[in-house]
Amino acid sequence: MKNLIKISAIFLVGTLGFQKMEAQRIQNVKGKNIVNPYYSRTDTQILKVPNSTWKKVLNADLYSVSRLNETEMANTGKYNKFDGRGTYYCAACGNALFRSDAKFASTCGWPSFFETIRPKSVIYKKDESYNMVRTEVRCGRCDAHLGHLFDDGPTASKKRFCMNSISLEFEPMVKKSK
Ligand SMILES: [Zn+2]
Repeated sequence: MKNLIKISAIFLVGTLGFQKMEAQRIQNVKGKNIVNPYYSRTDTQILKVPNSTWKKVLNADLYSVSRLNETEMANTGKYNKFDGRGTYYCAACGNALFRSDAKFASTCGWPSFFETIRPKSVIYKKDESYNMVRTEVRCGRCDAHLGHLFDDGPTASKKRFCMNSISLEFEPMVKKSK
């Protein structure tokens, strides 16, 4: 009996650890749990993956935003008013994008940051859709649409990265034990 409890405990911890680490790697696509093979927190190699392939490994919301440039409704995103300490990664590929230190309370309705983790974390593209000229921000590794860059940020650079929560995955900072 004791052994059984022990085995169950190991299995449970193992399963929870797996789920936590692999949260975005496993995507619910049309009711099935699908492993996204392009997701990595360590590999920085640039990905060239067609949308037809992304569609098979990303959930519908993430696919719409990251690959079809959709925008989530203002004030609906899970990270809009969120202020946890940690790191934000690309939800499609695991590329590190922003530190929570660079997030600020914006009233625009989407999570906003004033700088990226690395200059090459993201790439920029001119976006002339909806009769506006904007700077689109895309993931530097997988070319996922993340949001737009505006020039009304709170720091000297004036940068405001206005992001879709759906495109982001937050990982809390691990607390150091005393
Ligand atoms: Zn990415």
